[in-house]
Parts: sequence; structure tokens; C-alpha cells
Amino acid sequence: MRKNTHKTIKLPKWEKAVIKIGSAIISPQGEGCVTKYLLSIANFIIESKNQGKEVIIVSSGSVAAGLNTQPKAEKKAQFSIEEKQAMAAIGQPLLMQLWNRLFDFQCAQVLLTHDDIADRKRFINVKNTIRVLLKFGVLPIVNENDTVATDELKVGDNDNMAAYIANLIEADLLIICTDINGLYDSDPKINKDAKSIEVVEKIDENIYSLASKTTNPNATGGMITKIEAAEKATSLGINTVIINGTKSFIFNDLVENKLTGTLFKKRQTPISAKKHWIFNALPSMGNIYIDKGAMNALVVKKTSLLPSGITDVEGEFKRGDAVNVSAKIKGKFVKIGKGLIQYNSTDLTKIKGKKSSEIEKTIGYFLSDVIIQRDDMVVTVSK
Ligand code: GLU
Repeated sequence: MRKNTHKTIKLPKWEKAVIKIGSAIISPQGEGCVTKYLLSIANFIIESKNQGKEVIIVSSGSVAAGLNTQPKAEKKAQFSIEEKQAMAAIGQPLLMQLWNRLFDFQCAQVLLTHDDIADRKRFINVKNTIRVLLKFGVLPIVNENDTVATDELKVGDNDNMAAYIANLIEADLLIICTDINGLYDSDPKINKDAKSIEVVEKIDENIYSLASKTTNPNATGGMITKIEAAEKATSLGINTVIINGTKSFIFNDLVENKLTGTLFKKRQTPISAKKHWIFNALPSMGNIYIDKGAMNALVVKKTSLLPSGITDVEGEFKRGDAVNVSAKIKGKFVKIGKGLIQYNSTDLTKIKGKKSSEIEKTIGYFLSDVIIQRDDMVVTVSK
């Protein structure tokens, strides 16, 4: 029975999709991975490939699969990082076995950490590998390399990982499968009258405020990380949908380009892949604070950042690192952008507030008259 209040709408045309299967779908009880909901997903993938489209899976479930093999593992709410990493090492091959059973063509395992995406060379290597896999008609299945990912190097959730992958392979559709029907104006598990939202034109604070934390203990990210992923992907020009992966009719409809879920429409003027990489993939190594004049120059005149407008420098960073830029809005400092810095933190502290012509005599060398080049910066506020 179709217990879904989301109206069915037309799915925009697509050629290359990333489909993210969360723990709530692959391990609904949190005890091992099961095929229960995967058959209709597999069928959708097979049909799409038959239509000449390309599909990449981002699959969770290694930890849950590993856990299931260890009956002696203490049943507790929280496992240590080491325990989870061990479970992932046990479970990842089982997860791949499970996926392989569903297809007549070959599946390939791609394990990544945040570092692999943040490093430009590795990023390109992964991209090339996936390109060849797709050329061979193989189905790439991506997961985070949980056994090596430390806290700082972790993407942490496969929703955001899927958005990175969609960027990497230049997909035109990101499908996020979860156990609720899409976005609502309040939590449907709490509020019976919650209204479904079929189309989101623009992701803003209002949309984030609609996303309540997940109520499924077996899911990692909840709605917030799905919206984050949708924001990353749509800002790059990739349509993103959130659908209920437990309902087989949704996948049957999807084959016919009909969507029952929420569509986050792609941005019409997407930011470049380089800016996306700076903003989303690179960790920020520090903060620089700027005055009103500099903010005006960045936001209105769209110029580069000069030393004269910098009031404060925070953190330790090298030339070429990414740093956040903050300015005062309504009396409070807020992040207004992020960019690649031309001077290290020690020297920037010395030249902050000075004219560009004073750089050389202040620190004894000169690299650039601007602190962040406009091309190397993403500004997130508009006038
Ligand atoms: N990488 C984790 C796993 O396979 C899951 C992360 C997530 O679900 O977001 O178990």
C-alpha cells in the first residue's frame, strides 16, 4: 500500500547517478546486512544500466555486518572507535558479498577517506579509477575506509561522502535512500500532521531548521547530513533526491522517471569544481576576521581580499592552506567565506591591517599583494 503523502512528480532527466544506501536500509535492525530492501534497489540499478545510464553506489553497513559475526561482542549502545574499526574490517567483505549476490555484472569496492578527497592528486586518481570501472560496465561500490579513518580524516557519514563522489564523477543526479519518505515541514515520526515537501528550490537556514535529528538508532547522519549533502551537490549543479528506500514502488517508478520523495533542485549557476573542493573538501586551518570595508569589497565588488581589511588572525596555517573568513553581521562575527591563503599565519599576523605596498618591508619578502585571490575564494553571503 502506498502510505506516502509525497505527491509523485517528474524526475529530471539524468545520465549518471550516485545512489546512497544508508544503514537504515541495509541493516534495518542494526544486526547485520540484509537483502530485504535491496532487491528493488538492485532492480532499479539494472534497469538504469540497461537504459545506458551509469550508476555508482555509496553503501553503508560494514560496521553492522561485522557486528553480526561477533555474537560474543557485548551488546551495548556505544562501541569504541577501535571496536567499530574492527567491525568494519570484518564486515566490509561481507557487505561486498551481499551486493555481488544481487547482480550478474561485477561490483568493485572503492574505500576512501576524507584525505583522499582533499588531496588533489588522490582525488584525480580515484576519479580515473571510477571512470575505468564504469567504462568496463562494473558497478563501483564506495564506502568510507573506516579502519584507517581517524576523526580528523573522516567524512563521518556516507551522505556527505555520496555528495563528494557525485562531484568527483561529475554525476547529474544524487539519490539518497533513507527510511522516511522525504522532507516534511516537521518530524513525521512525532507529528502525524507533518506536511510533505516535494520540491526544494533553494537550500537555506529554513530548510535546515526543518530537518530534525534522526530517530533511527541504526542510521548515522539523520536528515541534517542529508540536507548538507544535497546542498553540496545542488551547488555544483547536481539534482538531489531523498527517497524512502524501503518502498519498492518508489524504485519501480524511478525507472520511469517518476519521483515520490523530495527533489532538491540544482543551482542554475553552479560553483566551479575547484571552488567546491576548497569549500567542502579542504579542512579549514584557521580564521581571519575582516572589517566592514573588506566585507563590502568581497560581497559587493567581488574583489580579492587585501591585508588592509584584516583585523585578526587565528590558527596556525601555511601558505596554500584553506582558511575561513569571518566578518561582523548585526554585531556578531559570522563565517562569510573560505579561501586559499597566500601568506602563513605568522607573517599574516604581521601584515594584517597594512597596505599591500608595506608587505615587503614588514616581513622581508613579497609573494602577492592580495591575501586571498578572488578565484581561490568562495563567498557565501550576498548583498
Ligand atoms: N561507513 C559506515 C559503515 O559502513 C557507515 C557510515 C554511514 O552510514 O554514514 O558502516
